[in-house]
Amino acid sequence: MTALHKRRCGPCTACCVALKIEAPELAKKAGEPCRHLKGGCGIYENRPDVCREFLCGWRLFEEFGDDWRPDLSGVLMMRKAPSELPPAWQGRPYGVHMVIIGGEAAVRRPAFAEQVARLVARNIPVVMSAASPSTLVNEHLTTPTDLHSKLLELYALLHAARWERGYLRMIPSLYRLLLDRQYAKLLSRSNG
Ligand code: SF4
Ligand code: SF4
Repeated sequence: MTALHKRRCGPCTACCVALKIEAPELAKKAGEPCRHLKGGCGIYENRPDVCREFLCGWRLFEEFGDDWRPDLSGVLMMRKAPSELPPAWQGRPYGVHMVIIGGEAAVRRPAFAEQVARLVARNIPVVMSAASPSTLVNEHLTTPTDLHSKLLELYALLHAARWERGYLRMIPSLYRLLLDRQYAKLLSRSNG
């Protein structure tokens, strides 16, 4: 992927809502609008460095078309440095974290599965989350599978596992994600 940087956010304000910000002057939870968000950024000229320096994947990577702008696609992408990836994947130059902010409709978009397939085919780690927790999509796709259905299934599990739904509902969903991953690994070993 090549860096683009020239893209403008336009009317999108997805990162001002979707992301958790830990900078003391701006601390907020994921999914909570920044207190300076008033249509656009109310303190744009004086916004903190954490905002100035943030580039989402859509602004960073050329291969995602205009329709991937987060407020249009429902997917907020971020580049993950190798050190942020699971140990087995840290040899890769980067990963792509796809935060689903537009619900199931965003996962149903054919362009979503097509793009995930292209990244996975290049062995680029793709992390998917619906807030918290997240899962590494590549490890669920070690056998021939219907990618579109698999992504919808993973999204449903991630969605059900959101903290907001409570610990009791989260535990079985996380357990299923874990089992699914272990099963995929076992299958790949027995096939290899
Ligand atoms: S998510 Fe990307 S395009 Fe949208 S406001 Fe943030 S940096 Fe701009
Ligand atoms: S300060 Fe402005 S750019 Fe930064 S999160 Fe808040 S609204 Fe967005």
